[in-house]
Amino acid sequence: KKDSQKHWAVFVETMDQSFRSKQRLKSDLRRAIAEGTLSVAYQPIINVRTLRMVGCEALSRWNHPEYGPISPAEFIPMAEEMGLISDLTQNVVEQAIKDCSLWGSRIAVSINLSSHDLQNMDMADIIRSALLRHNVEPEMIEVEVTEGAIITDREATGGVLQSLKAMGLQVAIDDFGTGYSSLSYLKDLPVTKVKIDRSFITDITEEGRSLKLLRGIVQMTHELGLSVTIEGLETREQFALINRWIGAEYVQGFLYGAATTAENIAKNFDIEMVQLPVKPRNGGIAA
Ligand code: C2E
Ligand code: MG
Ligand code: MG
Ligand code: MG
Repeated sequence: KKDSQKHWAVFVETMDQSFRSKQRLKSDLRRAIAEGTLSVAYQPIINVRTLRMVGCEALSRWNHPEYGPISPAEFIPMAEEMGLISDLTQNVVEQAIKDCSLWGSRIAVSINLSSHDLQNMDMADIIRSALLRHNVEPEMIEVEVTEGAIITDREATGGVLQSLKAMGLQVAIDDFGTGYSSLSYLKDLPVTKVKIDRSFITDITEEGRSLKLLRGIVQMTHELGLSVTIEGLETREQFALINRWIGAEYVQGFLYGAATTAENIAKNFDIEMVQLPVKPRNGGIAA
């Protein structure tokens, strides 16, 4: 009995600690967003044919003063839950468009929008204002939305995406193939590109079914007149298979670099990406 009491005490203590740290994380996140101390890192997107960087994806980074880097997979849902995501998005939009302008508008930038952003009727105006202030053409900017975010409120979402596309932005479906089983939205929504989730390439081999599945998805996407980015490209073997069997236009993944600083993106712009190092340093988290 004494022993089980001890276990219980340990359990309560752990619960309490994780609760405290979650609360702590939340209040720290609120402050970080308000003070604008989150940063944006950029992951290269490579043209498969030319092996040159054609664009990059803006990814939020939070370096907690005490806990170190916190994954966006953790703080993005937190920001959504706390009603802070539109502030976060606005900061990313501002930073990404400013950096795009500093790069001389040679490198396109993709910005992730959450489902809340897609119901925010001001979203198009927020982006338009940043484009005007930084003198960037709308064609340089792409928004990424997941399948899950679209189905939340298809009408509102359709409206926001429609105005973004009408402005001249590119619209990409992110993590394609993981969110929603009906593909019917592809014919109704103003989509220009599909980013195929990395789970489709993790285990591709010359003979396996994964390669056929990926090839089928890419063919269907092309039939609809959309271009394709394959996410999560990590090895030269995967690249060789994609290059040989899959007609995707773009790839993105650790093989060609994890998310990095705006300065590094500018430096690497003219490099043929096949020369770049194979492995990211610290699990894809930019310094
Ligand atoms: P995502 O939009 O699908 O972004 C791609 C994620 O895959 C990034 O994770 C990137 O670092 C990771 N990744 C890229 N290449 C590879 C690879 O070769 N192997 C592996 N294993 N992973 C790779 P990250 O930065 O941790 O972001 C996770 C997710 O958080 C993003 O997925 C996106 O959904 C969300 N997110 C990040 N920044 C923002 C933001 O500013 N706004 C919103 N709404 N969501 C964001
Ligand atoms: Mg994305
Ligand atoms: Mg993605
Ligand atoms: Mg993903």
